[in-house]
Amino acid sequence: MRIGIVGAGWAGLAAAVEAMDLGADVTLFEATRTPGGRARALPATRPDGVPLRLDNGQHILIGAYRETLGLMQRLGVAPEQVLLGTPLSLPYPDGSGLQTPAWAARWPAPLDAVAAILTARGWRWSERLALVRASLGWQLSGFVCPPSLTVGELCRTLPARVMDELIEPLCVSALNLPAAQASAQVFLTVMRDALFGQGFGRWSASALLLPREDLGALLPDAACHRLGTRVRLGTRVTALQGNAPGWTLAGDGWSEDFDRVIWSTAASPAAVAIGATTDANPQDAARRDWASTTRQLDFTAITTVYAWAPGARLPAPMLALHNRPDAPAQFAFDRGQLRPDDPSTQGVLAFVISASKGERDELQQRVLAQAAEQLGLSNLQAIQTVVEKRATFACTPGLRRPAAVIAPGLWAAGDYIDGPYPATIEGAVRSGLAAARAACA
Ligand SMILES: Cc1cc2nc3c(=O)[nH]c(=O)nc-3n(C[C@H](O)[C@H](O)[C@H](O)COP(=O)(O)OP(=O)(O)OC[C@H]3O[C@@H](n4cnc5c(N)ncnc54)[C@H](O)[C@@H]3O)c2cc1C
Repeated sequence: MRIGIVGAGWAGLAAAVEAMDLGADVTLFEATRTPGGRARALPATRPDGVPLRLDNGQHILIGAYRETLGLMQRLGVAPEQVLLGTPLSLPYPDGSGLQTPAWAARWPAPLDAVAAILTARGWRWSERLALVRASLGWQLSGFVCPPSLTVGELCRTLPARVMDELIEPLCVSALNLPAAQASAQVFLTVMRDALFGQGFGRWSASALLLPREDLGALLPDAACHRLGTRVRLGTRVTALQGNAPGWTLAGDGWSEDFDRVIWSTAASPAAVAIGATTDANPQDAARRDWASTTRQLDFTAITTVYAWAPGARLPAPMLALHNRPDAPAQFAFDRGQLRPDDPSTQGVLAFVISASKGERDELQQRVLAQAAEQLGLSNLQAIQTVVEKRATFACTPGLRRPAAVIAPGLWAAGDYIDGPYPATIEGAVRSGLAAARAACA
């Protein structure tokens, strides 16, 4: 069976590896020269001229990303070597905030999280108990809530400090939306899987996994190596045509017939491509509906400001920051601590603005001022600021997401496809694996 796959993001790569392992004759087309899509490596140069590798955006994974971690392992990448696992913690520069104490680091979930809540520095007992009470309530309700609820409404009884120092940072990092706009049901699903789900290897589900290598080295490079000549980088697909019983993919000066196609680009190009296969014909109604549902998704931005100063170092590899409009970053990462053996990354910090608004230069200036104010780092110089305007679909309450099945012989894969997770690497990988299994069935 010939399967054509369009887009070598993590969804397309997962689909291609799975379909190949299931015995299909796979061809994976990627428009750019670098695999990985939104989670890809990015070459850059430090202000002092030293070349280094950054990422299209600073990413974190968690222990509950079992399908992603399992796929890495299948491809010969050892997750414990390329990821630094730390127990759930969101420390602020002054040492306040949630941190799993060392003595509870190996406790099974959710006891490690309960220990972190009960020992959170700077919190009153009433605040800790309010959070434990709310978490028990979520558990008793099976982590299910009315689909129309926002995270803000779900958590309306929680004290302001718990909202500011825990719920807001967790919500914005997982769903890329502030609590007032984010879907409570999707947030609860993430909490359920992180607090009560199964982890991976020796990591609990809630463990934060910080990349020690660029994102290419985590999975895309190994996947491309495995796929060999089946991957065509720098090959944009410009047309998809039904050619019963299969599908034809075409680009600049070429066209190829396939028995099945998995369309694994981001949502907007997918809506355009699938929409273009339809006309007024009644039998195209399902495809028109699919394209229209996909077109209606909204998106939110993520900005990553990379900066450097000789000797710059954070108290921990990842810190939460107090954010406000003129100090917009929610998190700072010390890439030098994550890669102690790599001289090019020493003194390199990444600042993440989830749900970011505004222009690149202004955001960059504000982040550098925030680093001076909150971290005492007044000599940082910007390396590069990456603004991804369409980083994730807006995971709002009651959102209708497109299905994986588009038409006979045609599937979609990607982080936006209907599923339990917000736009994440794990959502993308799960969707790619599922599409490949369906296509090969
Ligand atoms: C800045 C940023 C930070 C993020 N942080 C996190 C995080 O910390 N943790 C987390 O889990 N997730 C995070 N995400 C989300 C995560 O990166 C995405 O959910 C995931 O990478 C989506 O993968 P995908 O395969 O669905 O789509 P994409 O990555 O968008 O891949 C689609 C691919 O299709 C290709 N393509 C498009 N059109 C064509 C065409 N016509 N022909 C051929 N190829 C084509 C594109 O070039 C691209 O390579 C973040 C995203 C961003 C942008």
